[in-house]
Amino acid sequence: MSLVYLKRKISPRVVNGHPWIFNNEVEKTEGNPAPGAIVEVFTHDKKFVGKGYYNSQSQIQVRLLTRDKRAEINEAWFLARIQECWKYRQQLGYTENCRLVFGEADSLPQLIIDKFNDYFVIQTLALGIDVWKPALVKALETVFSPKGIYERNDVPVRELEGLPQHKGFLSAPFDTKIMINENGFRFHVDIENGQKTGYFLDQQDNRRAIQHIVKGADVLGAFTYTGTFEIHAACYGAKSVLGLDISANAVEQARRNAALNGVQDICHFEAANAFDVLKQWGKEGRLYDVVMLDPPAFTKSRETIQKAITGYKEINLRGIKLIKPGGFLVTSSCTNLVNPDLFLQIIEMAAKDARRKIRQVTFQKQASDHPIIWGMENTEYLKFLIVQVQ
Ligand code: SAH
Repeated sequence: MSLVYLKRKISPRVVNGHPWIFNNEVEKTEGNPAPGAIVEVFTHDKKFVGKGYYNSQSQIQVRLLTRDKRAEINEAWFLARIQECWKYRQQLGYTENCRLVFGEADSLPQLIIDKFNDYFVIQTLALGIDVWKPALVKALETVFSPKGIYERNDVPVRELEGLPQHKGFLSAPFDTKIMINENGFRFHVDIENGQKTGYFLDQQDNRRAIQHIVKGADVLGAFTYTGTFEIHAACYGAKSVLGLDISANAVEQARRNAALNGVQDICHFEAANAFDVLKQWGKEGRLYDVVMLDPPAFTKSRETIQKAITGYKEINLRGIKLIKPGGFLVTSSCTNLVNPDLFLQIIEMAAKDARRKIRQVTFQKQASDHPIIWGMENTEYLKFLIVQVQ
């Protein structure tokens, strides 16, 4: 096995448990490892650090899979990891749908596996994990006997690893338009053409948090995608619900989901740019009891973080203006670049600009099948806040 030695002076990050080793942290490599190969990593004074996968083409040269010197990275090792991941989700009460593998937080860097009951969607976002796809499929077959496994590797970040974008079946072909249960409601999920893996499981616990505040309420939801929050609101007893998304496709699916749950008469959806429409309705003096916002990330890099701050501030300002005194704002942010403190500051600024007082009702993160590792920023990304607006 090839060996990678770290420089004397590296950030304490690696020793403290972070699995990434950047090019400029490597002193020398012995054995000429092939891209994707498993290597052993040592400190400059030859102390064992861990084993991980190597890619000279990537800025992150090694991603560690284990700190156990005796561990052999092979099919059996991946099977054991998948079993552990499933055990953890079961311990937390997830039975049907969950993020089974959440990359770095499950010591399986750059691997995402979403479980939609009997169907599985995989993303392998680095070469060193991509080469283990057959082992991962075998492990899923052993543990779950799935009805289908699908690969959603149509993700640009793979190109940084020299990997093509691709999607397709990893099992015998099946109908990729499936149905799931969540919190007692039903949703169509398009795992082939939906966003990301087809469905945002990370909000599944947060969707329950709106249960009481939406009773008898007029609710506006923006960035609705397939209508999940809005349909929850309708099923939890809202008087009226309107959901907006810029994608006509998403709106179409949201309408189907409303019908599936028998709430099509109170839950409507329109294709619209939320920034424009909320501004316009604010001018017209429209008011709602509850406004729910779940916008996209606005930026993917730290250099353009100001874009995200401006976006969140603007949309929340426009949302707050539409809330009746005593009503509620339900607002999310899904990028790790905006940390929880910064997110709260942005909401505070928006409320100030709207000249409204707010008080925090609840502040949550992503669902607990997406565990957070302290010090590993990319594992803590979703913020979900409810405030009452006076
Ligand atoms: N709330 C959803 C996830 C939302 S993802 C859920 O829980 O499933 C963000 C959504 O915002 C996407 O569906 C995208 O189409 C939509 N979007 C992006 N920009 C928009 C805009 N300017 N106006 C309205 N929708 C927008």
